[in-house]
Amino acid sequence: MEVIKVTPRGYCYGVVDAMDIARKAAQNPSLPRPIYIIGLIVHNRFAVEELTRLGVTTLDGADRAEILEQVKEGTVIFTAHGVSPQVKQRAAERGLHILDATCPDVTKTHDLVTRLAAQGYHILYIGKKGHPEPEGVIGEAPDAVYLVETEADLDTLPDSLRDASRLAVSTQTTLSQWDTAALIEAIRQRYPQVEVYNEICLATQLRQQAVARMAVGADLTIVVGDPRSNNTNRLVQVAEELAHSPAIRVERLEDLSPEMLVGKKRVAITAGASTPSQLTREVIRYVENFGLEPQLV
Ligand code: SF4
Repeated sequence: MEVIKVTPRGYCYGVVDAMDIARKAAQNPSLPRPIYIIGLIVHNRFAVEELTRLGVTTLDGADRAEILEQVKEGTVIFTAHGVSPQVKQRAAERGLHILDATCPDVTKTHDLVTRLAAQGYHILYIGKKGHPEPEGVIGEAPDAVYLVETEADLDTLPDSLRDASRLAVSTQTTLSQWDTAALIEAIRQRYPQVEVYNEICLATQLRQQAVARMAVGADLTIVVGDPRSNNTNRLVQVAEELAHSPAIRVERLEDLSPEMLVGKKRVAITAGASTPSQLTREVIRYVENFGLEPQLV
């Protein structure tokens, strides 16, 4: 069996930095205890479990503001996805020690939206409903930003936007670049005056482009990652729609059964930006050795 190790894959710099901040916090005795992470540090349960073992408690909930209400004292870590200014302010008001692990690429979108809103723009923000990243970005200018997930959402926007001279579109960092391009085109058709700021991060783009290129002709593409990871799910989609390879997502090696590999001649393997490398290495090793007869001596 030929195994195509898609490159680049796995942890991006934003995730590496966020994990580093959380690990160092756990080892720093001078930080106020307890130490909490507001939401999942990255969307991967194995990464979360590692931090739990180090004594850092992950709190989850409907939104960041609600999660924060559970914390009475100590240190809070904001995740790579970013948080709204309201959440930062509330944490400061409560006297909590704050460590901000927001990815610089997410901060860039926050700054963009803040600047555009201050200049009087309305902003269509393409993102996933219920995901923490849009929650944080929209919090920068709740009256000026409209969350758009699908073309159908455009029908729900106020009619007045058609005449708005200052109208912009921005995006979540981890979307499919091809879906987003199609949605931006639909927005342009409806609002020809719109200014486009595509904020899909470079790490996401490179991982998607690598799958679209390298998984072509694969009988199967395996994407290692958590079901809640948006960029992981987009890699499955890219393998199927762009590389035309059947694709599956597994969280770890144990999710892979021999039946999935029987008869496959070319298997491509990649991983979401929040997937610990060890999990992907185990899958690669297993697939590389699959079907090899034990050596007779
Ligand atoms: S996927 Fe992109 S935006 Fe998200 S943490 Fe990684 S580099 Fe940052």
